[in-house]
Amino acid sequence: MTTSLAPHEQALLHRVPTRLHIAGQWVEAESGGTFAVTDPATGMTLAHVADATADDGMRALDAAAGAQKQWAQTSPRQRSEILRRAFDLVQQHADDLALLMTLEMGKPLAESRGEVTYGGEFLRWFSEEAVRVSGRYASNPEGTGTMIVSQRPVGPCLLITPWNFPFAMATRKVGPALAAGCTVILKPASLTPLTTLFFTELLREAGVPAGVVNVVTTSKSSALSRPLLADPRLRKLSFTGSTPVGKALTAQAAEGVLRVSMELGGNAPFVVFDDANIDRAVEGAMIAKFRNIGQACTAANRFIVHESVVEEFAARLTERVTRMRIGRGTDDGVDIGPLIDDDAVEKAAQLVDDAVSRGAQIHTGGSRIDGPGTFFAPTVITNVASGSEILREEIFGPVLAIATFDTEDEAVQLANNTEYGLVSYVFTENLARGHRMIDALDSGMMGLNVGVVSNAAAPFGGVKQSGVGREGGAEGIHEYLETKYTLVPTGV
Ligand code: NAP
Repeated sequence: MTTSLAPHEQALLHRVPTRLHIAGQWVEAESGGTFAVTDPATGMTLAHVADATADDGMRALDAAAGAQKQWAQTSPRQRSEILRRAFDLVQQHADDLALLMTLEMGKPLAESRGEVTYGGEFLRWFSEEAVRVSGRYASNPEGTGTMIVSQRPVGPCLLITPWNFPFAMATRKVGPALAAGCTVILKPASLTPLTTLFFTELLREAGVPAGVVNVVTTSKSSALSRPLLADPRLRKLSFTGSTPVGKALTAQAAEGVLRVSMELGGNAPFVVFDDANIDRAVEGAMIAKFRNIGQACTAANRFIVHESVVEEFAARLTERVTRMRIGRGTDDGVDIGPLIDDDAVEKAAQLVDDAVSRGAQIHTGGSRIDGPGTFFAPTVITNVASGSEILREEIFGPVLAIATFDTEDEAVQLANNTEYGLVSYVFTENLARGHRMIDALDSGMMGLNVGVVSNAAAPFGGVKQSGVGREGGAEGIHEYLETKYTLVPTGV
């Protein structure tokens, strides 16, 4: 295991801005405070970044509110071209962005490169959407007037992102906000701010004007966001993170009747019918479970497998999982990096212990791996009894938990038995059954015979306690637009 940073890692870290980005300038926090960012694979400190206070947040809002009018008046084509330049710069700096993500978050380098591709696509997609916003023009039914329906930017937005996809969660919000003509305050997770800070430098280079994108890093998120949400100049909150924090922020945003987009937690069912192609189901399971070390809102959380195929499915997965290579994400051939911190390791261990105490059987893994770093062995467990915590909670770790079903109705009932509704995965070769599942499963998204659904061109989002609103697709830009209706009487 590496115990010091490689020269190229040090060189990259020296190029990352570590201050706040307010009104087009890199500035210190007013208090002069900083906090440390660490590598979860080694525990090493990577950098110290500015620790914004509530006053710094207000400075960022002053800048965003001050720039709003002029930014909204730029032509859609101008905004489109800036986003397109940002996309091109991301391609040029893809290796830097990927390495930074692996260093601060832990995922294997190949997956970080995948996130750069996925995240970059939101900049390209919304550079194209910026010039496609349209309205309506129609006679009213009485024939006494003309109804004009137009779209305008919501106004200054607060964008709060999580640590698990430090790049894509930022572009998925910044892309549509800028395309729509909104200015923003972007607050990355304190565990992974470096990728966002590097990306901000690319946005500057792409020509984003001063005040349009303000970035505040802080170790005191609530103290920073609360006064912003209470300020009438802020018009929107877009949040990606856990459901409890999303609920608390929604309540705060309600005071000012702010527009909100909430991308929250998941508890995805992965249903394998007896008529499934087991090769495809195993491939899908490996991606849906172990991508991002299991730390994805879209991670398959509950494997619900027909009794007649469970033995084969579990055996083949166990064989694959046993061969997975664990290590620092920068090392060649690593499949599983560290979890984000000690709490995450503790939670995975506790969920496995609870399941085992209720009769589950461990096929491989099942425990933490000694440090340095916060690693948990990739795990397969079967015979998970209903009532086990692992079926209720978001695991957010590399633990594949399998329960069984007999009838199609039972599969649907088990899959929907959660307060979450982000995504579901279904494996069946029966087309009619596949279509029945599209209707029957309560989730905002579904993968039919596939283990990953994300795409910048698709509307990403959940139902129930997985959130409100959609990011990406034709829908994404409307999260940042208000509809305005005007009546012009005939003859005026
Ligand atoms: P989290 O603890 O809710 O934090 C998310 C963001 O909110 C971070 O920037 C965090 O900043 C900030 N935050 C935390 N408490 C806050 C408060 N009281 N006031 C204001 N801001 C606050 O979630 P996470 O652990 O970073 O991310 C994992 C969760 O995100 C999982 O539940 C996952 O399912 C969900 N997620 C959902 C999607 C989706 O699209 N639906 C995508 C990715 C992740 P600090 O870290 O600096 O405190």
